[in-house]
Amino acid sequence: MALIPFDARDGWIWWDGALVPWRDAKLHVLSHGLHYASAVFEGERAYRGNIFRLRDHTARLIRSGRILGFEIPWTAEQIDAACMAVLAANDLTDAYVRPIAWRGSEMLAVSAQQTTIHLAIAAWPWPSYFGAERMAGIRLGIAPWKRPSPDTAPTASKATGLYMIGTISKHAAEAEGYNDALMLDWRGNVSEGTGANIFLVMDGDIHTPTPDCFLDGITRRSVMALARRNQMKVVERHIEASELDRATEVFLAGTAAEVCAVREIAGRHYTPGRITETLMKDYDALVQKTPEEVASVVA
Ligand code: PMP
Repeated sequence: MALIPFDARDGWIWWDGALVPWRDAKLHVLSHGLHYASAVFEGERAYRGNIFRLRDHTARLIRSGRILGFEIPWTAEQIDAACMAVLAANDLTDAYVRPIAWRGSEMLAVSAQQTTIHLAIAAWPWPSYFGAERMAGIRLGIAPWKRPSPDTAPTASKATGLYMIGTISKHAAEAEGYNDALMLDWRGNVSEGTGANIFLVMDGDIHTPTPDCFLDGITRRSVMALARRNQMKVVERHIEASELDRATEVFLAGTAAEVCAVREIAGRHYTPGRITETLMKDYDALVQKTPEEVASVVA
């Protein structure tokens, strides 16, 4: 399929309070966010006209900015409404929604105290990230980069700069024929994929790394709630890389990836089974529900 560059599409993008034509949503090259990664973003999915756990995403966006030392000049209510306005303007009901906030052009040195904070929101159709391989299972390589400790990088923020090692790691995995990379953390423990959290089934229970140096994903928390509703035991703990040998099922969970089976991690093979299938089906059903119904399940 031919790539359609993201700057050569049609539609509307919300930018600092107004809807602007998609092709006109251009940024000056001397923007602090570009030079110093002073930017935070969200990845959301809309299903049947509702954005799944919208307020949780908006709250994380605001929190991410605060971790980087800036305040997004819009309230959570205004940001939620802007996300919905973008869907409506582009006539989308099922889509990926991408808010991004960044420091502007007033200053272009490391210190950026006087920069204004901007917010833009775009939306586009984006079918399942891993497509048909979601149940068959994808293959992960092991990343050459480690997730840094929380006193080395602002790991609780969905900050653009943290994706730098994700992209190089994903490229390295793809060069070896894998779909994605498993990232270990600074201690050598299992952390996550480059854009989704990870779960491992061991002795019939579900184990997932404690999110102390990577995002505690909204999908991750939804899947944990669904698992517990199914009387499945979920254990959050530090998971050593050597334990990958004894997992029987492995899956990823994230907004873009949804619930996605993993059939291999660097030569270790897994068989997507009952637990992965149940949670994939339950998650697919959950996202179709109204926000009120979703809140009653994941509360
Ligand atoms: N980790 C990383 C690095 C991610 O980019 C994402 C996607 N935002 C996640 C985990 C999962 O987060 P969520 O379920 O909130 O989308």
